[in-house]
Amino acid sequence: MSDCIFCQIVQGRANCHRVYEDDEVLAFLDIFPVSPGHVLVIPKEHAVDIFDLEETSAQAVARVARKVAYAVEETLRPDGLMVAQLNREAAGQTVFHYHMHLIPRAAGDSMAMHTRVPGDPGEMAGIASRLVVALEH
Ligand code: AMP
Ligand code: ZN
Repeated sequence: MSDCIFCQIVQGRANCHRVYEDDEVLAFLDIFPVSPGHVLVIPKEHAVDIFDLEETSAQAVARVARKVAYAVEETLRPDGLMVAQLNREAAGQTVFHYHMHLIPRAAGDSMAMHTRVPGDPGEMAGIASRLVVALEH
């Protein structure tokens, strides 16, 4: 979909800090990270939400989310890792291309789902490249 920001990222028409890619799935850093290392995992094929998602895409995203979770664990050593996925506006969904959030959590931090503060590009580039290395082995 040409007006979908995540489709634009898949097509290389918008930038992202990519951490993993295969034929079906792309994982990249959230531009407004709730915490450093906040990753989004998306199917390359556009689907609005879980109700619009092919079963094969659901499986592919779940597999990559698990893979990236291990890379985040190894690289950033968070106290916890939140996996979240919002469907429809009433549930807080703001980008209507299915995605899974992986959000590193520190003990005692606030449980916010969204922030409007952009991540520091240098810090994000550094985290993305560390995750890429962790995902290569
Ligand atoms: P949701 O509210 O679950 O739909 O989450 C959408 C997420 O996409 C939010 O956390 C946004 O910060 C994030 N986001 C929006 N635009 C971009 C972008 N261009 N690159 C990376 N993340 C984005
Ligand atoms: Zn899309």
